Parts: sequence; structure tokens; C-alpha cells
Amino acid sequence: MNDCIFCKIINKEIKSDFLYEDKNFIIINDINPISKGHCLLIPKTHFQTIFDLPQEYPNKILNIIQKQSLNLIKQNLATGIKIIQNNYPSAGQTINHFHIHIIPQK
Ligand code: AMP
Ligand code: ZN
Repeated sequence: MNDCIFCKIINKEIKSDFLYEDKNFIIINDINPISKGHCLLIPKTHFQTIFDLPQEYPNKILNIIQKQSLNLIKQNLATGIKIIQNNYPSAGQTINHFHIHIIPQK
């Protein structure tokens, strides 16, 4: 997608530090964090919403969320973790590329 900010980050047209990367996903820090450690899990492919994800993605996503959440707890950034995922503007989706918020809570 030409004008998608997350695609540009994935393609390294915009600089961002990857906290995690594998074949299909990255994790980056949210530019406007709700709490310290607030990060975003983003698929490298431009899917718009949860409805566009391939069947095999939920398992992969759950695995990465568990690992990243445990990392945040180990780093003492969290005693609890909030997961938020918005689909379509009416639900608060501001970036048109599927992503999951991982938000440390204390
Ligand atoms: P949503 O409202 O679910 O679409 O969330 C979009 C999130 O992306 C917001 O929390 C923004 O702060 C975050 N965001 C926007 N631009 C960037 C960026 N360049 N790098 C990291 N996070 C971003
Ligand atoms: Zn995109």
C-alpha cells in the first residue's frame, strides 16, 4: 500500500526500531504510548482488519503476544497486560493496516 505508514516502516522507508521481527510480523513501540512499553504487533502484509487475516495467523499472533507480554513483565514494565485491537474507524482504527496494541499495566 503506497501511503500506509506501517507498510513504510516495514519497508524501512520510515525509520523505526523493531522490538521483534520474524518472517511475517514486526513489533514496534507505539509513537504515542498509553503506558511505558506500549507496543504494536503488525503483520508485514497489508491486511486492513481482523476479517482479512489468513486462517493460520491467529495462532502465530497469540504466540507472539504471549512472548512479548512475558518480556514486558520480566522487564518490570507490567504486572498486567491489556490487548486492544480496533477494526474500522468507528471502532477507533486510525491506521488502515491491521495491528494489535500490547499495553503494559501496573
Ligand atoms: P489505532 O487507533 O488502533 O489505529 O492505533 C494506531 C496507533 O498507531 C496509535 O496508537 C498511534 O499512536 C500509533 N502510531 C501512529 N503512527 C505511528 C508510527 N509512525 N510509529 C509507531 N506508532 C504509530
Ligand atoms: Zn500497510
